[in-house]
Amino acid sequence: MAILIHEDKCKGCQKCIKVCPFNAITMQNKLVKTDEGEKTKNIAVIGAACTSCGACVDECPFGAIEKLEEGATGVDISLYHDVWVFAEQRDGALMSVSIELMGEGRKLADQIGCKLCAILCADNADNLVDELFEYGADKVYYANAPELKSYNTDAYTKAIYKAIITYKPEVVLLGATHIGRDLGPCLAVHCGTGLTADCTKLDIDPEDKKLMQTRPAFGGNLMATILCPRHRPQMSTVRPGVMEKPQRVPGRKGELVKLDATFADGDIREKVLEVVKGLTEQVSLTDAKIIVSGGAGLGRPEGFELIKQFADKLGGVVGSSRAAVDAGWIDHSHQVGQTGTTVKPQIYFACGISGAIQHLAGMQNSDYIVAINKNEDAPIFEVADYGIVGDLYKVIPAIMEALDAMAK
Ligand code: FAD
Ligand code: SF4
Ligand code: SF4
Repeated sequence: MAILIHEDKCKGCQKCIKVCPFNAITMQNKLVKTDEGEKTKNIAVIGAACTSCGACVDECPFGAIEKLEEGATGVDISLYHDVWVFAEQRDGALMSVSIELMGEGRKLADQIGCKLCAILCADNADNLVDELFEYGADKVYYANAPELKSYNTDAYTKAIYKAIITYKPEVVLLGATHIGRDLGPCLAVHCGTGLTADCTKLDIDPEDKKLMQTRPAFGGNLMATILCPRHRPQMSTVRPGVMEKPQRVPGRKGELVKLDATFADGDIREKVLEVVKGLTEQVSLTDAKIIVSGGAGLGRPEGFELIKQFADKLGGVVGSSRAAVDAGWIDHSHQVGQTGTTVKPQIYFACGISGAIQHLAGMQNSDYIVAINKNEDAPIFEVADYGIVGDLYKVIPAIMEALDAMAK
């Protein structure tokens, strides 16, 4: 059994709160679709403490509370259609992961037989609308306002939630970036639906066209496929670097839907005073074409100086295993793997890294993997395209020497 509040009927009288023996009801300001259009109302919201005892149902003078039969949710899922991708922009540029999601979204939309749409929040970024069409969007929902120039939880949640309740997407995909990880759960709570975080694979069930969301579980030891059968939209965050970017088709066009993006006093509770870029943000593992990673096999923090020299020579960036981060040899922003960054470079060098499943989860989709390890039985060799058995302190200088000789 479940308890449903009919948001359009709730008048906010608070009578239900007084009778709930489990303190499961709170009042919240929510944007609600009513006969007179959308408006923000202070309404009753049922929390996780609800036991479905039913005590509140008859107490509501407006018939706003309903006890649903087993398995019912009060959501008519047939009203939901289309795949939406949250087009995350920073400083007026689309994030790589959003472009990757356009590729994945296209695949899913084609399998379901629906449109691929992007939802963009920005301030005067019409060029991004064109870019999204060129990356495959059939439709772009565009919330254009000064308040949406850079990310703000309240402003973005309000603008996108309003679009979701109006246009009812079946699937909403977000990048598992810091922003996506903040925005996704806020939207899911407002919509009363689920969210599968950090997906590494998405598919459509051929039987019922539901989204199958796969992510590592139990410390990465198994992959769990999660469904959201009875609520909408089906929402996932997806790790950067996992999905393929689509081909950009210059001049491709689609339909533009301009959203109402006006905010009342009190709608936005946070204010961005200043954006301070940390030094660590300069490590862009996600976009790197060559990554040279060091692990516990370096034996000491100074080992990363050799890794850095090697990476510089190749025009690559430095990555690491978690063991090296835990040892305090390098900052976490360099960590590759399940609890670090997922990468997909053209060449990935694993130097003194054993190849634990949690490390592999973040790098095994690299185009070429080169492993340097003194233990010939190290699991990293199972995923490596080229394996060099030897001491990294001898192998890396020898490769650098050979590169210098070739450059002469
Ligand atoms: P080790 O496993 O100690 O391997 C060191 C390797 O170096 C050995 O294979 C050894 O033969 C080799 N070696 C030693 N000396 C030399 C030398 N001189 N020359 C060449 N080779 C040498 N790990 C990650 O990396 N990323 C993650 O995101 C991550 N997330 C995790 C999440 C969870 C929930 C858990 C439980 C673990 C996670 N881990 C992660 C940790 C992971 O399980 C491993 O412990 C870690 O990857 C091991 O790092 P390593 O390969 O550098 O160290
Ligand atoms: Fe509270 Fe019972 Fe109503 Fe749930 S059904 S909100 S537990 S009174
Ligand atoms: Fe009042 Fe009914 Fe709304 Fe509860 S659900 S606040 S009783 S109108």
